[in-house]
Amino acid sequence: MGRLAIIFGPPGSGKGTQSRLVSDSLDFCHLSTGDMLREASNIGSDLGLKARELMDSGNLVPDDMVNGIVAAHIHGLDGKKDVLLDGYPRTMEQAYALDRSLMGTQYNVNVVLSLTVRDSVLKERILNRKVCTSCGSIFGVPVSVLEPCGNCGGKLVVRGDDNLEALSDRLQVYRERTLPILNFYSDRGLVVVIDAERPVPEIFSSISKELSKFY
Ligand code: AMP
Repeated sequence: MGRLAIIFGPPGSGKGTQSRLVSDSLDFCHLSTGDMLREASNIGSDLGLKARELMDSGNLVPDDMVNGIVAAHIHGLDGKKDVLLDGYPRTMEQAYALDRSLMGTQYNVNVVLSLTVRDSVLKERILNRKVCTSCGSIFGVPVSVLEPCGNCGGKLVVRGDDNLEALSDRLQVYRERTLPILNFYSDRGLVVVIDAERPVPEIFSSISKELSKFY
């Protein structure tokens, strides 16, 4: 039976960076609703075009748009692989929908890894963030889009929602709609707090230790 973990935290807390490490080093299937929506938007599908405007303005897309995609992926894995959910659930309705999708599967939510970072640090990271269009590497320190990706030489871009206007909306949406989920999972004893202001390898080491408890 596969493990299922949720990586939780505000925008800029390092969910994407840590998720990539967990999927590369620990062989988890990384399901990021943000990546799925960006991909749909780049392809220009109906869903993607609808999502893009909401994403770029820092708002959430409707629950129906993500619940179905996540459920289909989880069912497709058939309990055989460990799963890391990144950016989902993001509303209470999504948390209930996840519970419903897991019924009749081999998965339970094993742990919610809650990454904590002060707002001032989040802001600095997000306003500096560049993402590689080839390998998906994320850079949170000042680096110019004119430089090639330090990992693969690919092209770096700024995400459409990584700007000051969208950020304050994203943080507000996070506090009002996403943060309450933490109580829901705390009541079940599933939340582990991870100090995510430390260097990336230290954070990864804490996460690996938590995940190793669920074999
Ligand atoms: P992320 O890459 O996780 O920061 O997500 C980027 C944007 O995609 C968010 O600001 C939302 O607009 C949208 N998004 C991602 N995941 C969800 C979700 N679970 N529910 C609603 N909107 C989402």
